[in-house]
Amino acid sequence: MTTIAQNLQLVRARIAAACQAAGRDPASVRLLAVSKTFDADAVIEAVSAGQYAFGENYVAEGVDKILALRSCQAGTPAGGLALEWHCIGPVQSNKTRLVAEHFDWVQSVDRLKIAQRLSEQRPPHLPSLQVCLQVNVDGGANKSGLAPADVLALAQAVAQLPGLTLRGLMAIPEPAPDFVAACALHERAKALFDAINNAGVLPVPLDTLSLGMTADLEAAIHAGSTMVRVGTAIFGGR
Ligand SMILES: *Cc1c(COP(=O)(O)O)cnc(C)c1O
Repeated sequence: MTTIAQNLQLVRARIAAACQAAGRDPASVRLLAVSKTFDADAVIEAVSAGQYAFGENYVAEGVDKILALRSCQAGTPAGGLALEWHCIGPVQSNKTRLVAEHFDWVQSVDRLKIAQRLSEQRPPHLPSLQVCLQVNVDGGANKSGLAPADVLALAQAVAQLPGLTLRGLMAIPEPAPDFVAACALHERAKALFDAINNAGVLPVPLDTLSLGMTADLEAAIHAGSTMVRVGTAIFGGR
């Protein structure tokens, strides 16, 4: 077994243990493998070990990998292997077209202008782009993301855009000193997620709460994460 395959087993075991500790169904948490800075061969190793959803931070690097994987999958039977690519890094206006044309999800939307461009530029032959709004739950200064008070209004606007499907919220809390402190930060995102759904103003409820990385996935799952984004524990240090 390759190192990446072994690492994936360990991460899946961590997710299962965290779900058990939290009294949650392990099937309620998806694993996004964050492959930023690693090459297409590393992604292929993960695919061979049964991983299908990948996250990329840098748009150009992500598109290169998407195209590389697509060309090496060209010989596989139709319906055989559908990878799912998530853009999880900041999206500038001049990169929206690349994102709209190549990715399946964008988790880092925090401005209406970017959402509108993504919607307009989504090619009509593709399914709608799946979107999470990035929320800055702790006011961390060097981070993109909406202030919690602004999320509901943007969610309502994004839900109207024809090229997009609003799925949920994503947050990257600051590192916390211990499990309890990490849970408290993740719980802010969960509370906001619940408040938006309880407001009852969206055409379809949010179903995705993207929280948790290598260091804090247990706390995120405890707080209610439905998708953990894990890089280091799968691919190694960057
Ligand atoms: C890099 C990154 C991750 C993965 O972080 P690790 O600590 O390597 O697991 C998850 N989410 C985002 C937004 C990232 O930029």
